[in-house]
Amino acid sequence: MKKVRVRFAPSPTGPLHLGGVRTALYDYLFAKNQGGDFVLRIEDTDTARYVEGAEDYIMEALEWCGIIPDESPKHGGKFAPYRQSERREIYDKYIAEILTTEHAYLAFDTPEELDEVRKEFEQRGDVFAYNYITREKLKNSLTLSKEEVQNLLEQKVPYAIRFRMPIDRTLNLEDIIRGKFSVNTNTLDDKVLVKNDGMPTYHFANVVDDHEMEISHVIRGEEWLPSLGLHYLLYEAMGWEKPQFAHLSLILKPEGKGKLSKRDGDKFGFPVFPLSFKDPETGNISKGFREEGYLPEAFMNMVALLGWTPAEDREILNLDEMAAEFDLQKVHKAGARFSKEKAEWFNHEYLKTKGDSEILTLLKNTVDIDLKKMSDAQLLKIIALMKERATFIKDIYTESKFFFEAPTTYNEKAVKKAWNESTANSLNDFCDYLANASFAEGTLKQELHDFAETKGIGMGKLMMTLRLSLVGELKGPEIPDILEILGKEESIARIKNALNNIH
Ligand code: GLU
Repeated sequence: MKKVRVRFAPSPTGPLHLGGVRTALYDYLFAKNQGGDFVLRIEDTDTARYVEGAEDYIMEALEWCGIIPDESPKHGGKFAPYRQSERREIYDKYIAEILTTEHAYLAFDTPEELDEVRKEFEQRGDVFAYNYITREKLKNSLTLSKEEVQNLLEQKVPYAIRFRMPIDRTLNLEDIIRGKFSVNTNTLDDKVLVKNDGMPTYHFANVVDDHEMEISHVIRGEEWLPSLGLHYLLYEAMGWEKPQFAHLSLILKPEGKGKLSKRDGDKFGFPVFPLSFKDPETGNISKGFREEGYLPEAFMNMVALLGWTPAEDREILNLDEMAAEFDLQKVHKAGARFSKEKAEWFNHEYLKTKGDSEILTLLKNTVDIDLKKMSDAQLLKIIALMKERATFIKDIYTESKFFFEAPTTYNEKAVKKAWNESTANSLNDFCDYLANASFAEGTLKQELHDFAETKGIGMGKLMMTLRLSLVGELKGPEIPDILEILGKEESIARIKNALNNIH
């Protein structure tokens, strides 16, 4: 059997959308499941839509996601180059071939002329298509004489090369996810294969490269489904065996209707790109899952389940586990709805299984956080205490800010509830008691009990006043844990401070 080779073929026209990430992931999972290769090919023939930095962005995003290509512009490979702009000679060779077999023709119509015709059609309420009917009346090598064509070529008049769509043929197409369907060629137009600047279009370069790079399976977004007929015919015209195709459904808005867009993200406060991206022209910055604090493993797990359900409805799977059971036949035909809550749930699930020291490293790499006041030992204790409640790494810090900054104000309501005339006495006593306590790990709970008992104070009351003194309000983890992390000196200082400030 032919080796399975799958490619992800993005165009560097901007940052990768969530849908693009999922395509790359399914490409990768399928290839790995089949013991095949995963290839990254950059489709940059459309110079007008080229965006500076987009290619680097794509590579960095894939790397962050852990989807590492076997072959790519960066990794090289047997079929290099992997950037279409560097493969012009290959396309030129095949274009010459398709012209000789008369499956394509030269079209000399200028954009202005075509606009004119388009307007005429519109005035009649029709939509213009360059197709098997209109081509008979336009300026191309099918209607012009050989001499006229020769003349135009000698005068270096620019021309496009168009595919000559066969007339009234029923094409039987097949898609792994969607099954069989057919299309009549009369509904298809004569697509441009090479533009008048000599650059091949997506359709031609894509088919040539899939053939040249021995791609066995084309897995891509459903927006390419309408091109499948043309691609079948291009393979046929070139006499090449075609790959198998699978078109993935859209990722839908949270409410379920319509394609998920960047605007939805802005509106509901979630990113739609893996990494943040600064548009080089407008300077606008788009949010990224990485910068929002998502762990790449959680992000990948979430993306994988947008359109695929693993066996036994399992939800938590790492890349290798996903690859082991990924099956294109099980990819959903219907669109998958994105859910911010689900994305956060995945992150929480992954975060709580991480080791404390790994989280410490991640926390230290989180920007805008100043951890310097705490030792690593203290930070590790805070992490152990807080990670179960955190969705994102930074929550560990924001939810435990009171460890880093002593309270300067005290919640009024809580003061009313917790403080009375006897509080000062018992807290002063407690400070003296604390000064002699051992603070050895795990002993403070007992110490607190002993103190409350000897002084005849209720535990609940004591805890409340301590919480107020240490945190500034009635929230946070258990008091013995707070005391232990803050240490003797800081704990006593905070209690004294509260005594000076609360009356
Ligand atoms: N360059 C196309 C894109 O931007 C690739 C489509 C395909 O995979 O055939 O999505």
